Amino acid sequence: MDGPGWRCISRRCSPRDDGSGREEIDVKVLIVGAGIAGPTLAFWLNKLHHDVTIVEHAPALRTGGYLIDFWGAGFDVAERMGIVPQLRTRGYVFTEARAIDRNGRRIASFNPEAVIESNDRYLSIPRTDLAQVVYDSIDGAVELMLGDTVRELADDGDRVHVTFEKGSVRDFDLVIGADGLHSRVRELTFGPDELFEKYLGMVVAAFEVERYPERDELVAMMYAEVGFQAVRLSFREDATLLLFSLRHDGEVPAQRPAQEGLLREKLEGSGWEVPEMLAAMSRAENFYFDSVSQITMQSWSTGRVALVGDAGACPSFLAGQGTALAMVEAYTLAAELARTNDHTEAFTRYHERLAPLIRSKQDAARGLGLAFAPKNRLQLLTRNTALTMMGLPKVAGIAMGRSFHDRVELPPFPEQTSAH
Ligand SMILES: Cc1cc2nc3c(=O)[nH]c(=O)nc-3n(C[C@H](O)[C@H](O)[C@H](O)COP(=O)(O)OP(=O)(O)OC[C@H]3O[C@@H](n4cnc5c(N)ncnc54)[C@H](O)[C@@H]3O)c2cc1C
Repeated sequence: MDGPGWRCISRRCSPRDDGSGREEIDVKVLIVGAGIAGPTLAFWLNKLHHDVTIVEHAPALRTGGYLIDFWGAGFDVAERMGIVPQLRTRGYVFTEARAIDRNGRRIASFNPEAVIESNDRYLSIPRTDLAQVVYDSIDGAVELMLGDTVRELADDGDRVHVTFEKGSVRDFDLVIGADGLHSRVRELTFGPDELFEKYLGMVVAAFEVERYPERDELVAMMYAEVGFQAVRLSFREDATLLLFSLRHDGEVPAQRPAQEGLLREKLEGSGWEVPEMLAAMSRAENFYFDSVSQITMQSWSTGRVALVGDAGACPSFLAGQGTALAMVEAYTLAAELARTNDHTEAFTRYHERLAPLIRSKQDAARGLGLAFAPKNRLQLLTRNTALTMMGLPKVAGIAMGRSFHDRVELPPFPEQTSAH
């Protein structure tokens, strides 16, 4: 029995016993990317009893990376998934963001909670830990293909024929690209990166080291000069996260030696602990480096293929909310798929619901570049003055309110009937 828009592939279609009159249809979905958006989507599609496969090109779930500030609608989704206790266990609540001068003296200080205006619905968590917690919530309930990716996608209107890099060929009813900023699914389906990627003239590097000599518990230490910002965060078990964001107009290097070389060339001789941070860089096991870019698209779907998270709507790390948005998108996409058997209608509603929000986040993020890597002395002065003001009562909330405090109404998720 084929529903409108769906091809019922497993002949398990049966009338629902929830009185809704809709049919329970077994849908085979391929999710490309096991970051944040992919596993979140898998969690919710499982509730619809869909048959989910995730393919991740990394040989294991990724480790290392950077710290995520997590609150707002992303927190709401996590709460609905029942994973907040695990996030609290692995996360941190930083009590101070401190801007310092080249000698390490405090020039500004504020409590991050004042910016976010959230009492206990806020935490910071390493991206890897967040991804792991989300993945743990579906472990065993989905098929995970590690160390592989999609090579070709052929959508014939009834299904998508997928050829994987390692040679296997399989059919799916839907393919969802959750493969991040440099999405292969986007490239295969919509066209080359140049059509959608807006490079914001900055790169970001983050790496974790053990036994870094300086520590400031639960304080985010931030130092900036013209062209860059350096951040140090102390983690548990004597680990330290070091992060640089810097202006860069040339080609973005793809390999670690060239990436480290760029950082050394641009930052050698800078103040504060920057020389020590650069020295520690070479012993970091995990090293993250990428361009700071946004992805803007007119539509996040075509035929039976759709995009979720950074793949279709990356707001850049300047927005500070990419994870939250990725989870909101994944949840909303699943909720819309739950409402209809017509994937085209669901994809359209998913886009209509979220496109204005994403646009406003991307617009706001573009204005925040000076805080992460001031272009000139005037911008540096503006950044330092703004950070000083953030320490004043109520100012932080008011100053950042427009970009941080919008209310996102999550659509209801229909209660599902019995599991497979
Ligand atoms: C330095 C930095 C700081 C940030 N800070 C914050 C913050 O404080 N708060 C916040 O909310 N957000 C923050 N973000 C943004 C956030 O990390 C992203 O928006 C979020 O991770 C997007 O999730 P995603 O699942 O769409 O993509 P990703 O997390 O990038 O996951 C994509 C997954 O797809 C996999 N993949 C890639 N290509 C392929 C392929 N071809 N085939 C198969 N798999 C593939 C990747 O290995 C990865 O596992 C920050 C980002 C950066 C860079």
